[in-house]
Amino acid sequence: MKILLQFPEGLKQKALEYSKKLEAEGNEVFVSASPTYGACDLAIDEAKSLGAEKLVHFGHAEFHHVDFNVEYVFYSVDAPLDILARSLEDLKPYKTISLVTTIQHIHQLEAVKEYYEKAGKKVIVGKPFGFAKKAGQILGCDIGSSARVDSLVDAHVYFGGGIFHPLGAVLHTTKPFLAVEPFTKTTRFMDDYREAYRKRRMGKIAASVNAKNIGILVSTKNGQHNMGIARLLKEKTERAGRKAAILVSNNFDFGSIDNMLEFDAFVNTACPRIATDDTERLRKPLLSPNELMEVLSLNPTVS
Ligand code: SF4
Repeated sequence: MKILLQFPEGLKQKALEYSKKLEAEGNEVFVSASPTYGACDLAIDEAKSLGAEKLVHFGHAEFHHVDFNVEYVFYSVDAPLDILARSLEDLKPYKTISLVTTIQHIHQLEAVKEYYEKAGKKVIVGKPFGFAKKAGQILGCDIGSSARVDSLVDAHVYFGGGIFHPLGAVLHTTKPFLAVEPFTKTTRFMDDYREAYRKRRMGKIAASVNAKNIGILVSTKNGQHNMGIARLLKEKTERAGRKAAILVSNNFDFGSIDNMLEFDAFVNTACPRIATDDTERLRKPLLSPNELMEVLSLNPTVS
């Protein structure tokens, strides 16, 4: 069988090992060298152009249904649990907590939950909105497992590495949010991000109120393609007396976008995290669709 393998950045180091394994089973194997951000970003076009019959996508669970033969290979990582004892000190004031993690540690969620329960906590594991598939799992764009239970808990706990995944959950919840990092063996309340991002959001909106020309970013990645929303935003922008154009790319290069000097502001309809995490990479404001609607309502007829 002709197979294309696709690895996220953190697993690209495994490409040769897996391709040799599948070749030994009689397959013709190719490896996608493109950047890969999630299962929203399946290399189906590359697979089709190679005439491959299957895409093997490593490291992420299914994001949405696609009309192609895709095999998802999880990459579970066993994290040490000794940091949990220290986290109890941080969680002392809170009786009921929510617990979330990433797909890499989802198999450890039950053990972490039991640990906290034995320590006297009531632990609630919420359900995602739909892009993430497992209870307690969060993605950068699906923080339902935290947000849905925000009103039921005294605090939130994220078990796992990095801030990319918990940041979205922090920004969409209101209770104290503790990140418990098993590899660096650190714990940290992330609540200060809420105020910093609120200020940044207000700054972007203020800087866009008089924007006359708006560039609307549309991704061609299968799980990030939102042309319907882009068309609607374009129509609303033009109805408000401004000019708009839809800018299409598979992988946005911020240097290239920055070269589009006619635009006064950009709106992101691709991975929602772009408008949260990448605003500093452009000289002009980079808004989310909701932020654009706020701009249009603050100044409905720019002149
Ligand atoms: S956060 Fe962005 S990159 Fe990650 S799964 Fe969601 S859309 Fe894809």
